[in-house]
Amino acid sequence: MRSLNWKLTLALLLVVAVSVGLTAYLTNLGTTSEFSQYVSQGRLSYVEQVQETLSDYYADTGSWQGVQGLFGDLPRFGTYRLVLADSSGLIVGDTDAEWLGKTTSQIGLVDPVSVVVSGQEVGTLYLVSSSTWHGHGQGPIAGDESAAQQPLTGEEQDFLDRANRSLAIAGAVGAAVAILLGLVLTRQITRPIRELKKGANRIARGKLSYRVKVKSQDEFGELAKSFNSMATSLENSEEARQRLLADIAHELRTPLSVIEGTVDAMLDGVFETDAANLRSIKEETALLTRLVADLRDLSLAESGQLKMEVAPTDLVSLVQRVISQAEVIAQQKEITMSLDAAEKLPRVAADAGRIEQVVANLLSNALNHTPPGSSVAVTVAPADSLPGYQGSKEDVLISVADTGEGIPPQHLPHIFERFYRVDDARSRMLGGAGLGLAIAKQMVELHGGKIWVESQPGKGSRFSLTLPVSGQA
Ligand code: ADP
Repeated sequence: MRSLNWKLTLALLLVVAVSVGLTAYLTNLGTTSEFSQYVSQGRLSYVEQVQETLSDYYADTGSWQGVQGLFGDLPRFGTYRLVLADSSGLIVGDTDAEWLGKTTSQIGLVDPVSVVVSGQEVGTLYLVSSSTWHGHGQGPIAGDESAAQQPLTGEEQDFLDRANRSLAIAGAVGAAVAILLGLVLTRQITRPIRELKKGANRIARGKLSYRVKVKSQDEFGELAKSFNSMATSLENSEEARQRLLADIAHELRTPLSVIEGTVDAMLDGVFETDAANLRSIKEETALLTRLVADLRDLSLAESGQLKMEVAPTDLVSLVQRVISQAEVIAQQKEITMSLDAAEKLPRVAADAGRIEQVVANLLSNALNHTPPGSSVAVTVAPADSLPGYQGSKEDVLISVADTGEGIPPQHLPHIFERFYRVDDARSRMLGGAGLGLAIAKQMVELHGGKIWVESQPGKGSRFSLTLPVSGQA
């Protein structure tokens, strides 16, 4: 009993056997009793009819003399034998003419039916089954009630046996057809399972593009749909994994080749082993360290394993801290930073370190993409100041708006993707690997918030994020 196919077939066989057997048995019981009843009633009415004919005869003739002549004309009931005895027990009529002149006690006839004329019993009538009569005192003899109760004669039993045989044949044919049909249906029903098994094996062997072809609308169809969508997400994540590996390799290659080239040149005596060259190696290693740290943060955040230390956080002072840390760079670039913070904002349940990292990243991007002499404006306000805001009234909005080059619309949908850079060469020069916004998005979403960007090329960009007051983590 290994496969489902077998289990279903055996279950089906059992059901067919039990139902056909039970039906045959009950029908047999029913037929036998109905048939016996039918035969008994026939016998009873036959006896009554003969009784009447014989009473009439006696009433007409006043005796039983010559009654045997009448016995030859009486209709017979199957193989039954009619015997008439006068009031003294002497047999005067016998359809087989064998017992004439003998007495009922000699033959051993019992259960008589009285033949009555004018209220007086003038004789007794016996219905004897010739097929079951075995001699003195043994055969069933007709009587008032026993005429109905006598067992079936051989012919009647034959008829019943034939009927039951036909029933058994019909049952067997029915069962065979049911089993055959069952086998076909079982194969049909288990086909989607075989398909799914085949699909699972293919996927396990790495053929992630394989899809199961099950068109049924039932639970198997649903299962196949779920299976296919699982295969699609597996395929997508495998693609994403390969892309990520390629991206990481690509990102590592540049600083590593700079380091290798510089060290080689120093070893060959082409470059001096001086502070300037060593600093350039240090900068590249710092870049690598940051890249590795960013990747670690991102992968932990994406897999939901990033440890968050959530506490009620005052976002205004958090943003003020970030601005003051960026002050030196802003001054170097001659960019004015401003903060517009609403009063009495509620504390938000957040991991201050992570949110600081996000805001610092947005501010650093703004400073990097804004020309000298321009300005960057940071706002901290209630989130419901945004038109159509769906969240709680107490949620907080932070936005960083610059007046820089802006982002072309075709790049906007991808800006939060890993390793996505609008201007590759320029971002690389600024030390970015295109991970900052991807990390920011993960962090904000882990807090249950949202982050988005609006930008007009040539005019500037505004990055905004909302944080729910209740937090998420
Ligand atoms: P990076 O570390 O390279 O800055 P980010 O994920 O922070 O990576 O940003 C992705 C890209 O989005 C950047 O390379 C840059 O091209 C673009 N970008 C981000 N912020 C701004 C901004 N304020 N103005 C214009 N472009 C921006």
